[in-house]
Amino acid sequence: MRSQTYNFCSGPATLPTAVLSKAQAELLDWQKMGVSIMEISHRSPEFTAVAKKAEQSLRQLMSIPDDYAVLFMQGGATQQFSGVPMNFFGLCEGKQAGYVDTGIWSRKALDEAGRYVDARLVASSKDSNYTRLPESWALDEKLAYVHYTPNETIGGVEFPHIPDVGDIPLIADMSSTILSRPIDVSKFALIYAGAQKNIGPAGLTLVIVRRDLLDATPHSALPPTMNYRLFDENDSMLNTPPTFGWYLAWLIFDWLIEAGGLTAMGEVNSRKSARLYNYLDASDVYHNPIHPEARSWMNVPFVLKDESRNAAFLKFAEEHGLLNLKGHRSVGGMRASLYNAMPEAGVDALIDVLTKFAES
Ligand code: PMP
Repeated sequence: MRSQTYNFCSGPATLPTAVLSKAQAELLDWQKMGVSIMEISHRSPEFTAVAKKAEQSLRQLMSIPDDYAVLFMQGGATQQFSGVPMNFFGLCEGKQAGYVDTGIWSRKALDEAGRYVDARLVASSKDSNYTRLPESWALDEKLAYVHYTPNETIGGVEFPHIPDVGDIPLIADMSSTILSRPIDVSKFALIYAGAQKNIGPAGLTLVIVRRDLLDATPHSALPPTMNYRLFDENDSMLNTPPTFGWYLAWLIFDWLIEAGGLTAMGEVNSRKSARLYNYLDASDVYHNPIHPEARSWMNVPFVLKDESRNAAFLKFAEEHGLLNLKGHRSVGGMRASLYNAMPEAGVDALIDVLTKFAES
């Protein structure tokens, strides 16, 4: 049993209790093998079966077309900031890599790409202090790809729709929004995501890439452990993968399928965030700065209008079993992350505590 708390951490984030209980029950003696899944070879038939099932479940959940490879990698989303331009180095020759700037994470991706390719901004919402989506996009035939961040985890800014970039390959850092609702994978050239929000524990990084792009000539310094084509050819077992994280991701994918898949998740997630935004908007005590059309379903930043009470609020929340509501160190304030594993009751509990604190 775990204590009755709700964990609003932005990542590594709360995981479904049912999944953790299953993993716990299976931990010491996995499939009656007398060992845990962490203690067997990644090349054993038992583990490769898990790896395959995880991929199948993910393909089913996200309706991933057959002409896309699904890669289970490491190094976090940060490694993909370099992995994308390094793997697509050949595509970028004589061209430019386009980046959409909507906040801290997209900016980091742009800065890193500039070390390998000619990277430039195609749109930015900086002039709104990142409280809106960019208004105009400078797209042209010189762009080898366009990279954007569908959900800025720190800023709490999310694109409600997939942007239309015509025929230019679209690349998305979906770290904090993947699996939160249905998405049309065929609109993307590549999707990547660190696992530690909606997929599973930290350590695993998912890359979903259109197969024709695997033929691009990589940067000569690309390490094998970051090479998409090698990962595809080796069923993501080029070297030792994070086996426990991969197994847990499989349990989470199946938990999502049982819960009704991504359509059901999208409905719940939309409801959860709407309830919290409605409360914050109606309040004289709290404030969310993000324009309604750009508000994230997954990460809801908010401030107390009287900022001197921040620390008191966080203490009060913790005393009531609401954990990790502190905003990112770069922006301060508060942030409630409402990933798939946060039940609706957690949002109700948060609103209850916000109300009690406002009245105190
Ligand atoms: N992109 C986004 C949108 C993120 O939220 C994060 C982590 N919070 C990162 C990139 C960096 O991920 P990692 O720590 O897995 O490298």
